[in-house]
Amino acid sequence: MIEKHHQAGGRLNTLSKDGFTFDMGPTFFSMSYEFDKLIDECNIDYPFEFIELDPLFTVNIKGVDKPFTIYKDIDKLTEQFIEFEPNFKEKITAHLNKTETLYHDTVNHIVHNNFDSLFDYFTKLTKVPLKHTPLLYKNMWSELCQSFDSQEARMIFSLVGFFLGATPFDTPAVYSLLNYVELKHDGYHNVKGGMYKIVEGVTGVLKDKGVQFIYNTEITGAKAKNGTIDALTDKNGKEWRADAYIINSDAAWFRGKVLKHKEYREEKLKRKKWTMAPLTIYLGVKGDIKNLSHHNYFLGNNFNKYANRVFKNRTDKETPYYYVNVQSMSNPNAAPTGHQALFILIPSPHLLYKKDWSDKNEVANRVIEDLSNKTRCNIMNKIVSKTVFTPYDWRDMFNLYKGSGLGLAHDMSQTGWFRPANRDKKYKNIFFTGASTIPGTGLPMAVISSGLTTERVIKHLKK
Ligand SMILES: Cc1cc2nc3c(=O)[nH]c(=O)nc-3n(C[C@H](O)[C@H](O)[C@H](O)COP(=O)(O)OP(=O)(O)OC[C@H]3O[C@@H](n4cnc5c(N)ncnc54)[C@H](O)[C@@H]3O)c2cc1C
Repeated sequence: MIEKHHQAGGRLNTLSKDGFTFDMGPTFFSMSYEFDKLIDECNIDYPFEFIELDPLFTVNIKGVDKPFTIYKDIDKLTEQFIEFEPNFKEKITAHLNKTETLYHDTVNHIVHNNFDSLFDYFTKLTKVPLKHTPLLYKNMWSELCQSFDSQEARMIFSLVGFFLGATPFDTPAVYSLLNYVELKHDGYHNVKGGMYKIVEGVTGVLKDKGVQFIYNTEITGAKAKNGTIDALTDKNGKEWRADAYIINSDAAWFRGKVLKHKEYREEKLKRKKWTMAPLTIYLGVKGDIKNLSHHNYFLGNNFNKYANRVFKNRTDKETPYYYVNVQSMSNPNAAPTGHQALFILIPSPHLLYKKDWSDKNEVANRVIEDLSNKTRCNIMNKIVSKTVFTPYDWRDMFNLYKGSGLGLAHDMSQTGWFRPANRDKKYKNIFFTGASTIPGTGLPMAVISSGLTTERVIKHLKK
């Protein structure tokens, strides 16, 4: 395995600084059964341990005194919405029943499948009952407006759109099935000892099986011969030969920049829809922070305006929207005794929309001040370690196109057959895996992607 960064994991990485150990990107995940399937199919012992989150997370909305605590238990969840959404229990139950059917009618036909042609894709789509078709043509927000009357419930149950790196206004309604996955099917999970234990566990198993890891080595070119790639070349001109290559770099970016495919040249890449870019802050804080739970969202009271602007314009100065994870709450080793490790994620425009990040500290400090006000705890005075990563840092660390944190977006023109495929059209021995190929972004999707690519590679090597 040849890796550009100095250690494995990609976006699922870790940052050690000033005695703190931060999870750098993902802080929780759903669909844990996809990891079970991976472990089972590889016939290995689980190399890490999940912790199921209960409650799932809390949401603070500007102007609402009490945070909403999101539970899987429907009665406890209903209590949170008593003042806001009449008949909440009936409404959430109907929403979850609808999204449950959608999930089970689509997951095996679409999500867990390779597509060999457009015809094959449409044939698989026809197996999805017609009653779900309207969900292809409307966005997640309209679906939620049909399910709930209050702005609070609509905002909270549209957060799954942000998990895909877009807003509920840009996300097709079919992805509302993630509410079923989150609230009923599986919930959310964290890993004992921190998320990076996944990477340490998996690389440990691979090393035992003889896999060699070569770090600080970026692939920058390819040499073709008779319709196959004969060698990939790294930054120092060294050639790497193999029977087949599995590319975990962004599936669109790599085709354009390294394989030089015309359909993925810069002008074409620019026209694709890319997900938000992260501005991430890692804080080491002395003492306790009150009024925060493990996973916290802070939302303003101008959601529609915010959502319509956030990924295309400047970051909103008046009302920042952000996510805070107190990593030391689930993993005490993340911070020295008497300290807390905090991760803050501010969804931001990618580099096609916002190029100048010289204001990174200003943006970060504004959010830290806002958090101090909302928690009634002067965090600024307690900071002993601070790191801010802009979309440029994310781009440069992992070759993320324009700093886009989750890769290609998931509208219908970039889903299924229309997403960059996991095998190359031109070179028969090149395969892709990860967030920008099928089925999509997020840790469980990356795991499913690896299974689909493995099927392709095994077929290729047997020929
Ligand atoms: C801030 C942030 C928070 C997130 N939070 C969550 C979350 O809570 N839950 C969740 O499920 N998902 C989350 N995600 C999404 C999740 O991290 C990604 O979908 C997933 O990790 C993508 O994995 P991947 O293998 O496709 O790509 P990557 O993790 O990007 O791996 C690709 C690897 O290829 C290397 N590489 C690239 N180009 C080259 C090259 N030319 N030569 C050599 N090496 C190269 C990169 O350095 C990298 O290590 C988050 C993402 C971000 C950025």
